[in-house]
Amino acid sequence: MQWKPTNEELEIAREELEALPADAFWSTPDQHAQYRRDGETNRLVLMKRLDHPMVEEACERVKTVTAMIDWEVDDSDVELLPAWHPDPEEVVLQERMRLQEQLVKATCANVECDVYLAAMDLEEAQWQHLDDAVFEDEDGEEQTMEIWSPVVTCYKCETEIQLAPEHYAILAGDDIANRFKSQSGITYRVLTRPEVIEMIDGKDHNLTVLGTFCPMSGEVLPPFYRGLMVSMSGAEEE
Ligand SMILES: [Zn+2]
Repeated sequence: MQWKPTNEELEIAREELEALPADAFWSTPDQHAQYRRDGETNRLVLMKRLDHPMVEEACERVKTVTAMIDWEVDDSDVELLPAWHPDPEEVVLQERMRLQEQLVKATCANVECDVYLAAMDLEEAQWQHLDDAVFEDEDGEEQTMEIWSPVVTCYKCETEIQLAPEHYAILAGDDIANRFKSQSGITYRVLTRPEVIEMIDGKDHNLTVLGTFCPMSGEVLPPFYRGLMVSMSGAEEE
């Protein structure tokens, strides 16, 4: 450490610390690190501090100063507090990770079955239109929202499990969740922008935009896939 306190700083520190009552708290001026005087001894116990390199450095300076005025610092059992301020994206990511942790531990809907959802054949999930929810929009107009669910069948007890689409996407991963297999055997895969550009430039006729119905079989598509640009495959094999 290159930093050295001035004599004046040392004097101020000595006065401040000696004035502390027994077991009193003492903090750095920014409140980022909190200490307690250990009884009436010349000893500070670092209780908690923000987990940040700058705060760590500030605590090292406290240690340097105290050592020079014959005080000591015990920082062996410090509680580190998270120092970051999450941005909205970070919050979404954290939430997704938390959900992911729960989902990997989730088991079959049949309470007597212990098969993990994550171990089931998620790729073969069958989207089902379960119900319609009616709600009033901002203008007071009645709107109908279709409720769909990817249904996964347990390989052990054959229970059909209706998953929330967002849970399914987390469990199965984007690669699987971005594919939809129609009853006629055609697989639609949601495209990324670079893929769309490449297919348009290459005049690839497998690119299509999905509406409400499957362009080949006419079956109703889950809302998740409507309005998306997809590539079509598997039609030739039929
Ligand atoms: Zn089961």
